[in-house]
Amino acid sequence: MKRQVDVDVAGLERELRRTIRGEVRFSDGDRALYSTDSSNYRQIPIGVVIPQGRDDVIATVAACRKFGAPITCRGGGTSLAGQCCNIAVIIDFTKYFNRLHEIDIGRKLVRVEPGIVLDEMNRALEKHGLVFGPDPATHSHCAIGGMLGNNSCGVHSVMAEFYGGGARCSDNVHELEVLLYDGTILRVGKTGDVDLAKIIAAGGRRSEIYKRLVDLRDRYGELIRQRFPKIPRRVSGYNLDDLLPEKNFHVARALVGSESTCAIILEATLELIPTSRARSLLLLGYPDVYRAGDHVPTIRKYKPIGLEGIDDVLINAMKVKRLHPRDLEILPPGKGWLLIEFGGNSKEESDAPAKKLMAELKAQPEPPSMKLLDDPLKEKVVWKIRDSGLGASARVPNQPDTWEGWEDSAVSPEDIGRYLRDFRALLEKHGYGGTLYGHFGQGLVHTRIDFGLKTHEGIQTYLRFTDEAADLVKRYGGSLSGEHGDGQSRGELLPKMFGDELVQAFREFKEIWDPDWKMNPGKIVRPYRRDENLRYGERYDPPQWSTYFRYPKDKGSFSYAIERCVGVGQCRRHEHGTMCPSYMATREEKHSTRGRARLLWEMLNGPVIGKNGWRDEQVKDALDLCLACKGCKADCPVNVDMATYKAEFLSHYYKHRPRPVHAYAFGLIHVWARLAQISPGFVNLVNRASITSTVGKKIIGIAPQRKLPEFAGENFKRWFRRTRGGRARRRARRIARPKSGAPGGRALPVNQRTRA
Ligand SMILES: Cc1cc2nc3c(=O)[nH]c(=O)nc-3n(C[C@H](O)[C@H](O)[C@H](O)COP(=O)(O)OP(=O)(O)OC[C@H]3O[C@@H](n4cnc5c(N)ncnc54)[C@H](O)[C@@H]3O)c2cc1C
Repeated sequence: MKRQVDVDVAGLERELRRTIRGEVRFSDGDRALYSTDSSNYRQIPIGVVIPQGRDDVIATVAACRKFGAPITCRGGGTSLAGQCCNIAVIIDFTKYFNRLHEIDIGRKLVRVEPGIVLDEMNRALEKHGLVFGPDPATHSHCAIGGMLGNNSCGVHSVMAEFYGGGARCSDNVHELEVLLYDGTILRVGKTGDVDLAKIIAAGGRRSEIYKRLVDLRDRYGELIRQRFPKIPRRVSGYNLDDLLPEKNFHVARALVGSESTCAIILEATLELIPTSRARSLLLLGYPDVYRAGDHVPTIRKYKPIGLEGIDDVLINAMKVKRLHPRDLEILPPGKGWLLIEFGGNSKEESDAPAKKLMAELKAQPEPPSMKLLDDPLKEKVVWKIRDSGLGASARVPNQPDTWEGWEDSAVSPEDIGRYLRDFRALLEKHGYGGTLYGHFGQGLVHTRIDFGLKTHEGIQTYLRFTDEAADLVKRYGGSLSGEHGDGQSRGELLPKMFGDELVQAFREFKEIWDPDWKMNPGKIVRPYRRDENLRYGERYDPPQWSTYFRYPKDKGSFSYAIERCVGVGQCRRHEHGTMCPSYMATREEKHSTRGRARLLWEMLNGPVIGKNGWRDEQVKDALDLCLACKGCKADCPVNVDMATYKAEFLSHYYKHRPRPVHAYAFGLIHVWARLAQISPGFVNLVNRASITSTVGKKIIGIAPQRKLPEFAGENFKRWFRRTRGGRARRRARRIARPKSGAPGGRALPVNQRTRA
C-alpha cells in the first residue's frame, strides 16, 4: 500500500510490529488523531508509534530507515507553527518514555527521558529547592522533549536570564543523548579544545559530525556573530551561535530548537536554578499597553523573576467569555498592565525590590496605578489569568476567529514599547484586530490575529502581513519567533531575518545530522510554504448536517462547534482541574477532549475517516469513555462541550438501529422504576439473588462489583401523601378553600390555590 510518500506502509507496519514492544498504530483513526498540533497546519501521518522505551525508539528508527520513511517526534503536541505534524511516522514519547532518572542536587542537574511533563519533573525537584527555569504556559502538559524541540521559554525565563544561564531551554541544557536517522547514538554537550581534538582523532561517524560542525562554524562564524540578534529570545533558526568558541562549542545547545529535523532526543540532562522561597507580585496599570512597554527597561533593573504584559483587548475577551469573571477585579485600573514577580528567601526580601520600584515609579510624572499583592491565592489567580491568554483570545463570541501565524515575535526589551506601537499600526494597516500580551520583560509579544485562513483573500492578506511583520522585526534586530519555533509558519521567512548565506548554513547544519532529509522534512529549512497544508484553507467547506442540538453559540453549526478546539491540550493535564478524567485514566490522546474533537472534525471533513459519517466506529470508540461530565465545557479555554457533541454523535450513530441494552436499561429507568412499583419486594429479591443479579448485570453492562440499588417498598408520591408533606398540602388546601358558609367561602382560581 502506497501513501503520499513513497513508502511501503504495510511492510513498515509489519516490521515495526515485529521489532518493538510498544504500540504500533497505523489505523485511519490513529492517523487522523495525530494529523495536527495547535497550529494552522494538518498533515496525515503514515502511522504512529508509542515506544515503551529507548530500545523501541532505536528499533523504530531502524525500521523507518529500512523503508525510507520520514520521522517526526511528538511530546504534548502543543506546537503552534506546524512542526509537530508531518507525512511521517510520528513517535509519541509521552505515554511510556517519561521517567526521571536522576537528580544531582550538588551540581543542580536533572536527567530525564523526553516524554516527561514539565510540571511533573518540577514537582520532583521542588523538594530540593530546584526548578527548571523555562516554563511555557502549557507547563501542565508539555513534555521536555517538545520543549527542547522548540527551545521553549516562559514567564520565569526572565528568572533564568537573571539568576541562571539564560532565558531559553537551550541556555539551560547540560547534555543530550541523541539518536540520528542513520542509527548513530551520541552524547553531546559542551566541548573543550582537548575533547574536541580527541573526538575528531577517534574517527567514525562522531568524528565526521564534529569535524563538519567545526568547519561550518569556521566558515560562518563571523556572519553568525554579526547577524544573530543579541536579544534574550532569539528562537528562530538553528542555534549556530552555540558552536562558537566563546560559547564552548556546545553541540547539545546547538541541537535544541531543531524541532526534530536533525536528531531524536533520547535523554536530556538539564541545568536547574534555585526556587525562590518567597514571591511577591506587583501589578501596574497603565492607560495603554504601549506605555506599559515603555517602563520595561526601568523594571528590568530590579531583576524580577517574571515580567509580563497584557492589554485591554485580552481582558475584554476574558470578560466576554466569562473567564475568571471575579478575578479580573484584582487588576488595578488601566488599559494595559504589567505583572511583575520578585523572588527572595523571605517575604521581606521579595517585597523589598517591589517597594523600591514603586517608589521610583511614583516619583515619575504620570505614574501607573499600582497594587502589591499580599495574598498567595490572589497571586495564583493572576498567573492563571495570564496563562489563559491564548485560549482566551481564541473564539471570542461575536468576534472573528483568531489564528496563530504571527504569535511570538521578539525584540530587545529596551524596544518593546516602540515595537508594540509599530506592530499595532501594521495590524491596523491590514485591517486586523488582535490582542497584545506576552513576556514583555524579554521583549516578546504574543497575539492571535483574525487572519481568516478559510478564504483566498484571507490567505493572501496573511501572506502579505507576515512578510511585512518579518521586515518590521528585522528593522528592530529581533526574532520572528521568540519561543514557539519556526516549523512551517516561519521557515519560509528565515532568509529575511538571517539572510540567504546563513540560511544556507542552516541547510548544511541539518545535512550534517540528517543527510537523507528524513527527519521532520519541510520544517525550518527547505520549508513548506506558509499557505501549504493548511488545516482549513480556501477550499474548506464542511458539510452542514442537520443536528439535534441547535448550537446557538456556534452559528447554529455542528462543524463550527467542532472547530472550537484549537489544540491547546489543557485536556491532557495529569491532575488538577476537571478536564479530562478519561485522559487522566488512560493517557491516550483519543481519550482527551482534544483527541475527540479532532476525530469528530476528521469525520466531518474526511478523507481519512470521513467515509462512514456518523457511523464511524473509531469516533464511537473514542467517545465511549467520555463521561459526559461537562468538565471541558467549563475548564477548556475555548469551552469545547464534548458531552453535547457525544450526545449528538450517538443519536445519529444509533438512528434507525437498536441501541445497546444498557442504553435502554438506564435511559428508560423511569419506566422500569414505575413497573417495579407493582411488586418492589419481588424485584429486589430477583436483584439480590446471586445468579439473576450476575446475569442481569452482565446484560445491562454493570460492573460485577457494583450492588444494584433496592427499590423502596412504597413509592415517593404515596409516601409524601401519607406523611407530613401530604398533611401540609392538605392543610394548605383547607386554608385556600374555607368551609362553605364562611365569609368569602368562594373557591379560589387554580393558580391562587396553588400559591396558597
Ligand atoms: C496555549 C498555548 C500556550 C503556549 N505557551 C507557550 C509559552 O509560554 N512558551 C513557549 O515556549 N511555548 C508555548 N507554547 C508552545 C508549546 O506549548 C511549547 O513550545 C511546548 O514546550 C511544546 O511542548 P510539547 O510537548 O507540546 O511539544 P510538541 O509540540 O509535541 O513538539 C515540539 C517539537 O519538539 C519536537 N520533539 C518532541 N519530542 C522530541 C524528541 N524526543 N526529540 C527531538 N524532538 C522532539 C517535535 O517534533 C516538535 O518539533 C504554547 C502553546 C499553546 C497551545
